[in-house]
Amino acid sequence: MSWTFLNTDFVPKEEVKISPFDRGFLFGDGVYEVIPIYDNKAFLLENHLARLERSLDMTGINRPKKWIDIPQIIEDLVKRNLFNNQSVYLQVTRGEDSQRSHIPDHGIEPTLFVTSSQLQINPYRLNPEKKGLKVKVLEDPRWKRCDIKAVTLLSNVIAMREADIEGKDGIIFCNEGKITEGASSNIFAVFNDEVVTTPESNQILSGITRNHVLCLLKAKGLKVFEKDFYLEDLYQADEVWMTSSTQEIQPVSRIDEADLKFKSPKDSLWFQILGSYFK
Ligand code: PMP
Repeated sequence: MSWTFLNTDFVPKEEVKISPFDRGFLFGDGVYEVIPIYDNKAFLLENHLARLERSLDMTGINRPKKWIDIPQIIEDLVKRNLFNNQSVYLQVTRGEDSQRSHIPDHGIEPTLFVTSSQLQINPYRLNPEKKGLKVKVLEDPRWKRCDIKAVTLLSNVIAMREADIEGKDGIIFCNEGKITEGASSNIFAVFNDEVVTTPESNQILSGITRNHVLCLLKAKGLKVFEKDFYLEDLYQADEVWMTSSTQEIQPVSRIDEADLKFKSPKDSLWFQILGSYFK
C-alpha cells in the first residue's frame, strides 16, 4: 500500500480526497516542492523548506497548521512508503472556499498534501555512457513569476507533452534567443574552462540543485558565471547540462535537430561534479 498525508492524517493513496472547491483545483492557487530522499534521508531539506516558505510569502498563502511538523511528516511518510530512495511531493494550496471566487474567503485554511513515489535514480549515474538528452527548444510562454514554485504549470505541461510526442526528452525555454530554463530543470553550459548558468530573476526558478551545483563548482575552484547566454551559444558549448532535484545533473547531446559536441564522461565536467554530488 502507498501512503499520503492530507492536512492532519496519513491516508492510503486510494482513499485520499479533496473538495473540488479547493482553490488548488479551481485556480491552481497553490505552491509545491519536490524533495529527493536517498537512503531514507531527505536531501537539502532545509533549502526546499526555505523556498516553500518564500513561495507562501510571495503568494500570501498561509502556513498550513502542521507547518512545523513537516520534516517529521516527511520522515514518517518515507518510512511508510518503504522505498529507500523516494521523491516526495509536497503541495500547499490556499485551501477550500465556500464558492468559486477569485477573491479568497476570509479565514480560509490552507490544504497540505504530501505524497511520495520511488525515486528513479539518475540514469547517467547508473550508466554515464548513456547518450545525452535530446531536447526541444521553445519560446518561453510562461508568466513573469517563474521564481515562484506554483502548481499552475499548464505552459510547462503543454511544452513537455509536445516534446514527448516528438520523441524528445525535455524542453529548453528561451526568450528571444536568451536561455531561461528547462520546463522542469535549470540549464548550465560549459565553454572552455568556464561554466555559465542563467542568473536568478523572475524568469527562472532558483533551483535547489542549481545552487548546490554552483557551490560544488566553486568549491573546486572552477570559473562560474551566473550570466545570460543565448541559444546560438549552446551550439558552440563543450557541455550542456540540465539540473533538478530528481534529475540531479544530466548531459544534453542534441538540441532540436543539431548534435552538440561529443565528450566522453571521463573528460566531462558534469560527470566529475556528479561524483562529488553527495560530498
Ligand atoms: N525550473 C523549473 C521550472 C522546475 O520545475 C524545476 C524543478 N522543480 C527546476 C527549475 C529545478 O529545481 P530544483 O533543482 O529545485 O528541483
